[in-house]
Amino acid sequence: MTDALSTALSAAHALLHSVFGFNEFRPGQEEIVRAVLAGENVLTVMPTGSGKSLCYQLPAIVRPGLTLVVSPLIALMRDQVQALTAAGVAAGSLNSSNEPAENARVMGLLRTGELRLLYVAPERLARPDTVEMLAEAHVTMMAIDEAHCVSQWGHDFRPEYLTLGNVARQIGGRLQTLALTATADAPTRGDIVEKLFPAAPPRVFVRSFDRPNLRLAFQTKERSSRQVLAFVRAHEGESGIVYCASRRKVEELATTLAESGVRALPYHAGLDKRVRDANQDSFQQDDGVVMTATVAFGMGIDKPDVRFVCHADLPSNVEAYYQEIGRAGRDGLPADTLTLYGLGDMQLRRLQIEQSDSSDERKRIERQRLGALLALAEAPRCRRQTLLSYFGEQSELCGNCDLCVEGVERFDGTIDAQKAMSAILRTGERFGMEHLVAILTGDRTENVLKFNHDRLPTFGVGSGRKAGDWRSIFRQLSAVGLIAQDLMEHGRWWVTEEGWRVLKGEARIELRKDLSSGAAKGKAGSRRDRRAATTAAIVGDADTALLDALKALRTKLARTQNVPAYVVFSDRTLAELASHRPANAGAMREIHGIGDAKLERYGAAFLEVIRATV
Ligand code: ADP
Ligand code: ZN
Repeated sequence: MTDALSTALSAAHALLHSVFGFNEFRPGQEEIVRAVLAGENVLTVMPTGSGKSLCYQLPAIVRPGLTLVVSPLIALMRDQVQALTAAGVAAGSLNSSNEPAENARVMGLLRTGELRLLYVAPERLARPDTVEMLAEAHVTMMAIDEAHCVSQWGHDFRPEYLTLGNVARQIGGRLQTLALTATADAPTRGDIVEKLFPAAPPRVFVRSFDRPNLRLAFQTKERSSRQVLAFVRAHEGESGIVYCASRRKVEELATTLAESGVRALPYHAGLDKRVRDANQDSFQQDDGVVMTATVAFGMGIDKPDVRFVCHADLPSNVEAYYQEIGRAGRDGLPADTLTLYGLGDMQLRRLQIEQSDSSDERKRIERQRLGALLALAEAPRCRRQTLLSYFGEQSELCGNCDLCVEGVERFDGTIDAQKAMSAILRTGERFGMEHLVAILTGDRTENVLKFNHDRLPTFGVGSGRKAGDWRSIFRQLSAVGLIAQDLMEHGRWWVTEEGWRVLKGEARIELRKDLSSGAAKGKAGSRRDRRAATTAAIVGDADTALLDALKALRTKLARTQNVPAYVVFSDRTLAELASHRPANAGAMREIHGIGDAKLERYGAAFLEVIRATV
């Protein structure tokens, strides 16, 4: 290591403490900061919430010069600029929604060379006048956030991202570039390297995708709005997101939740922009708002204290699922997730894939991605293992998923599978699930009688099980690929090659014992305890009366300054204040998240509350 580099690294350590108030780097951050300070071009793939921003923010203030941060969303820029400013860093953004006064402040800092970080939207950066202005400034690095937006493979392709390489050359010749993303997918990663680093491949850092603080759970849909309500109620007073598949459902659920006293707000692309923005603002700023949303509510959120994410409908694939639940618990504290799924969801997703005008290759990839999600939903063992294996990682039993905690019993389901497949074959692979279930359970429905299916040898062979159990068996068989469904023809089922092997007795199949309704009820019952555990883990041995008083002060300060509560102090900071009860500024300085700027700004007020609350 050169002397200059080691000096820069010690400076980075000092600033980590004095500016950000963090005692140490999170896993992965230090290596990246070191590579950046050494002048390398870097691509980092780290999961949401792992602390990517620090990897450019810290070098930006250690070194002289200006760091450009390209970010696709204005809301995100605003939050980051607020947070940096609160920590005493000269940061600003260039965007259309800035007030003139804010623009003047930023331009002033830019002219005097004091500005350290400038956030810019890619559209803005593509403008010749912006490029011209930045070519005059002393730009040392371009940090490209959400770098997967450059890839057509990703979900969030943004054509303007394709121009970034060019812009970087115009601004600073071989401008150092740091690309950041949370999307792990191999094709996407390849695309990023090719498009953003055409001259030479960057140094690549890939962090484990594990987010151990996220509790993972899936439930089959029984009465889904009740399940959502029970889950949200178990998180009273906490901020969370409820994702729905349609705008209509967003509206309905927001109303249902609001009627039961939850501070729920809707968010989807069909809402008036002003309403949408106002709802996003209150989610961001206030404590305990639940956003009921379509996936349009996404990338811009970097609220660290989202405590839960609930999918009221099945997400579109594992990637999307992980991104969406990843919006919870960015602060590293325990957060809870629940995904509901039913057969209708699976059928809808399949239909969406088949009816899209994507290429055959794309459809094939989409089918695989959906299949992986279904396998996760019906996983017979630790969910995190199943999830991480999708990202190519191996792991131990996690102890923090529904399957680890509540366990899942399996049984040899070969005979049941054979019964179900026999019902499919005996009826000529022409019928959908409800009809087949009626045959299995021996239910003389109108259709069963019409087709004389009560005379089949299979009729009633499954009467020992409830209809709901059989539906679950169909889902599980479909998740492991023994049977498949033709959606173009009324969802008729057919038996795959693998299915034939089980049918002929050449292979066996294990199924989950907790079929259908029993499972969901059992889990709902244990939810209270879970809530208690989550809260206890966050609050620790903190004094709750004091914690409430500190929260009240935080809310007041946040309101007067018109910033989100967490910009003042994070939940963890408040919890530590409440349990350590620092008696003076020196002791306060040791608390997580309190750097020099915040100490000066808020220290006295919080000390006062700590002293006064006994
Ligand atoms: P990402 O961009 O990877 O999703 P962020 O950069 O927004 O994540 O960071 C997530 C949270 O982690 C933020 O609240 C941030 O303040 C916090 N954080 C980042 N680095 C550290 C650290 N070294 N110690 C403690 N908290 C950190
Ligand atoms: Zn587990």
